[in-house]
Amino acid sequence: MNPSVPSQAAQAILTPIPALSDNYIWMVQKNGHALVVDPGESGPVEDLLRNGPTLEAILITHHHGDHVGGVRALQQRTGARVYGPRHENIPALDVALSEGDTVDLPGTGLRFHVLDIPGHTAGHIAYAGLLGLGRSAVFCGDTLFAAGCGRLFEGTPAQMLDSLDKLARLPPDTLVCCAHEYTESNIRWALQVEPGNAALQARAHDAARLRAQGLPTLPSTISLERETNPFLRTGLAGIRAAAGRHAQAPLDTPQQVFAALRQWKNDFR
Ligand code: ZN
Ligand code: FE
Repeated sequence: MNPSVPSQAAQAILTPIPALSDNYIWMVQKNGHALVVDPGESGPVEDLLRNGPTLEAILITHHHGDHVGGVRALQQRTGARVYGPRHENIPALDVALSEGDTVDLPGTGLRFHVLDIPGHTAGHIAYAGLLGLGRSAVFCGDTLFAAGCGRLFEGTPAQMLDSLDKLARLPPDTLVCCAHEYTESNIRWALQVEPGNAALQARAHDAARLRAQGLPTLPSTISLERETNPFLRTGLAGIRAAAGRHAQAPLDTPQQVFAALRQWKNDFR
């Protein structure tokens, strides 16, 4: 997919801004107003704001440094409001959020709904909303990745599986805007789990082609993740069998399958 969703009058422009070593800072802009999600550094955002839109809001998904490192500088230089998870310590936070809360981007009519998605960190949240023309996007930080998911630093496998299931229930064409370019290595691992998955094989070719051109592999979609991401497929017999073979243990529940997949991925090089 192109790095920017086509600019149409009624649709917001969505841009992944490469930052740090492999992060993306997502920008949404419409009518000259913009928000960014998880600015791990301020420089790449400031470059885009020069002669560009006015930054109104900074949305944070979780407290890790590669997601909040640029918050103070951006807030000081633009006066943008800082939104973030209620249960985590976020620099310069103005508005504390949890599931059921909403964020409006002034001057655009855009509204994003907050979802609690603990697991990677204890208070991790996501932001989901319509960009226009019926197309929606979710900013899911380090929880759902393209063909993968975040490591469990502060949560349990059961929590993370619930969070991933919640994201998987979003409309199938929802654009998945995650915070890292981990796609190719995630696909290499996913092909170990499901070597016969044709959609995954096709995705490997697509990702290699995009990366060879220096382009992001994101955004993905919920439907593509449901077809190719092992962590969203723990209920399938083939995934359960592969995870059980690797763990050399019988796996009865989706939680056990998820935990075995996560361990497999942790050990994969
Ligand atoms: Zn993180
Ligand atoms: Fe991260």
